[in-house]
Amino acid sequence: MTERKSLYVFLDLDNTILDFAKAERTALAQALSERGVTPTDEMLCRYSEINLACWEELEKGNWTRAEVLVRRYERLIAEFQLSLDAQEIQRRYEQLLHEGHDILPGAEDLLKTLFARYELYLASNGTDSVQRSRIEKSGIGKYFKEIFVSERMGAVKPQREFFEACFARIPGFEPSRAIMVGDSLTSDIRGGINAGIRTCWFNPEGKSLREDIRPDYVICSLDELPEILERL
Ligand SMILES: [Mg+2]
Repeated sequence: MTERKSLYVFLDLDNTILDFAKAERTALAQALSERGVTPTDEMLCRYSEINLACWEELEKGNWTRAEVLVRRYERLIAEFQLSLDAQEIQRRYEQLLHEGHDILPGAEDLLKTLFARYELYLASNGTDSVQRSRIEKSGIGKYFKEIFVSERMGAVKPQREFFEACFARIPGFEPSRAIMVGDSLTSDIRGGINAGIRTCWFNPEGKSLREDIRPDYVICSLDELPEILERL
């Protein structure tokens, strides 16, 4: 039997454990269809890019969450000259997003393995009700000691305040025994660095590293993670 070690493992949710790309696409396609707009591949792909760029504005502290949620649709509507109301699409999209809970390949096996050995925490940027609904429907909630969603923490990844609020809720927490694992360099990895803990970048698409954000570890498949954690 493997000895249980004290290690605090913070996992990102979207595109690390749950398939957010699919959830987003499905919810947006339906929201558009309901409003009489035929969702094209180009539109859905472009939305995904716009959405990421908008969340980066939040990560940089330029926009509030509320601004991100609506402006991403304002941009999409402007680019594709759609006659839609951004607020309305946002509301419907978010309702539909509650349903998106496909687990990424290998993620549940990973959670089972890690759950037997370490303390797991979810650290997610997003809307609290949406994330909790998706976690519940996917059945992965049982693996986590606590679920930290930015909306409720009063700060977002990569802000140090987000992580400090998480750490404050963990009795006996030691930063030297913690690691943040996620697919985003700008929120997960920069956040972990800001908070003074180890970081592991999940990079399944083989994206290039950035000079200014250096993770301690890089994995392209989730099944590489247990071995890395074993060495800590
Ligand atoms: Mg993510």
